[in-house]
Amino acid sequence: MLNNVVQAGFFDNRVRVVCTNSTDIVKESVIRHDLSPMSSVILGRLLSASILLGSWMSEKERVTLMISTNDDVGDIVAQSNSNLEVKGYISNKKLEAVFKENGKFDVSKVLKNGSLNVIRDLGLKKPVVSNMPLINGEIAEDIAYYMNQSEQVPSAVSLGVFADKEGIVSAGGLMLQILDRTMKDEDIAFFEKTFINMDSISSLLRKKSLEDIIKVFGNPDYIEYKNSSFVCNCSKEKVLNSLITFNFDELEEMKKDNELAVHCSWCSKKYEINSKDLDEVINIKRRSDNA
Ligand SMILES: [Zn+2]
Repeated sequence: MLNNVVQAGFFDNRVRVVCTNSTDIVKESVIRHDLSPMSSVILGRLLSASILLGSWMSEKERVTLMISTNDDVGDIVAQSNSNLEVKGYISNKKLEAVFKENGKFDVSKVLKNGSLNVIRDLGLKKPVVSNMPLINGEIAEDIAYYMNQSEQVPSAVSLGVFADKEGIVSAGGLMLQILDRTMKDEDIAFFEKTFINMDSISSLLRKKSLEDIIKVFGNPDYIEYKNSSFVCNCSKEKVLNSLITFNFDELEEMKKDNELAVHCSWCSKKYEINSKDLDEVINIKRRSDNA
């Protein structure tokens, strides 16, 4: 889908709004990883959040959102660069559905006790890592909390993935940011109230265009269109390099397996590995061990 992200300024550019329709990206991630509806909703929300944050990053920057739990939910990871090329995975692909009384997926119940890591890689030596326990577990409020606390940008975030029996129907996210903190309380309150009174983003996306959604905040000072897509830059070479962490005995043992395949964790692409490939890995490992 073209132009699936819009960014706009309001109130003399003192307020910034980003809105994304990530339906196609979430659908693609569901197919690639073969996810259950519950796993789809959780990964879909985090992927949508990574697009919102990616749109705010500087050039050459990369942001990784990782939610970790100590139970069988495992890790959920989404990454975006400033070109809004995103990818992500959830370690438990077949989570069972848990519903709230209103029939919606109960994400906070599944992610209870989880923590959020936000890793900003600016291309410098060390990435900037923020770690915090999930305060709410619905992901949107947790991302807003991160923006408020770690980035000191007062923000409100809404994320949504709507699925029916056939699969993903709509998915997306909306972020409101107060860039000028000297704004009067009553002006900030207008934006906050407007945001709170909006319908859920997944429902709005089924009825309205991105431009029409953000016009609820007034006439934008500027509007910028961007494209986001699911992109994984994995290769057989990278997959082979990742095997170097195994020891020599394990690598020799793998050679006995005639149908060895390694899946890229980000996109689930399958790479067939033969004994010749493994010999190459063993050689590289020898060289690096001797270096
Ligand atoms: Zn991949």
